[in-house]
Amino acid sequence: MIKRIGVIGAGQMGSGIAHVCALKGYDIRLIDVDQPHLDSGLDAIGRNMDRQIGRGMIRPEEKESSLKRIATATDYGALADCDLIVEAATENEAIKREIFKKVCVGLPPNVLLATNTSSISVTRLASVTDRPGKFMGMHFMNPVPMMALVELIRGIATEEETFRTVRDVVIKLDKKPVNAEDFPAFIVNRILLPMINEAVYALYEGVGNVDAIDTGMRLGANHPMGPLELADFIGLDTCLSVMQVLHEGLADSKYRPCPLLVKYVEAGWVGRKVKRGFYDYSGERPVPTR
Ligand code: NAD
Repeated sequence: MIKRIGVIGAGQMGSGIAHVCALKGYDIRLIDVDQPHLDSGLDAIGRNMDRQIGRGMIRPEEKESSLKRIATATDYGALADCDLIVEAATENEAIKREIFKKVCVGLPPNVLLATNTSSISVTRLASVTDRPGKFMGMHFMNPVPMMALVELIRGIATEEETFRTVRDVVIKLDKKPVNAEDFPAFIVNRILLPMINEAVYALYEGVGNVDAIDTGMRLGANHPMGPLELADFIGLDTCLSVMQVLHEGLADSKYRPCPLLVKYVEAGWVGRKVKRGFYDYSGERPVPTR
């Protein structure tokens, strides 16, 4: 029975996971590298709950009681009394491996571990832990409070009980679980990210500008957001990382990350979270940059 959930990473996804879990009554331990990251994660949770109150989705008392259930720390030792730990740190295999190695030190053996990775092999991440049977992928979608889907990914060693327990949590969160096998980028990103990468190629080759590409896909393919706007929303660093995992993992040139995507990440223009990506977010409304 899961009562207390640890969340590692207080960025877009970690704060969203803490948000939905706290609203459903789980006690949360939210971890990041320093206090400013934790504070900005808590601010985001507060703002997003206010938005839900404004839309009549939750009551103000629920916000208050949920925020009280979220404790923050910069030390993995604070996770020792959790029943389940969900890792939602930066999409970088070396960082995630290091986190899981450290988290396991002194961690009671019954604690389940999950990763929110968008693309990295669950089996490989599980192999650095002392409990591959109690490890699996739990891939939430962004923004977590709004998106209904969670992909569930078993590593080769994941035990059935681990899978069932994590699936029950997803159902309690009112999310829809789908099972994906442990292949690079699983289902949603295997299909979505090559489309985004292709949109960046279209921009790179001058097929259209940012506005034409996004308007084209919104009005011509009925997508709620254009692919470049969506890339900025996901984070161009995360998009690039997923394309690299697809390219390396499937060894097919069709997954080659667009050089323009690489350049934007090298420039630090990684999207909405830094107010600069394919759009400039510093003003009242987003302005296309190309
Ligand atoms: P983000 O950049 O918003 O946040 C990452 C957070 O991890 C940062 O706050 C960073 O300080 C923290 N972090 C880095 N190293 C850490 C460490 N050693 N210990 C603790 N915290 C650490 O990124 P995000 O968009 O929230 O993505 C997080 C994960 O979720 C990635 O694996 C990503 O692939 C996945 N994901 C992202 C999306 C999306 O649309 N952005 C969707 C689904 C899944």
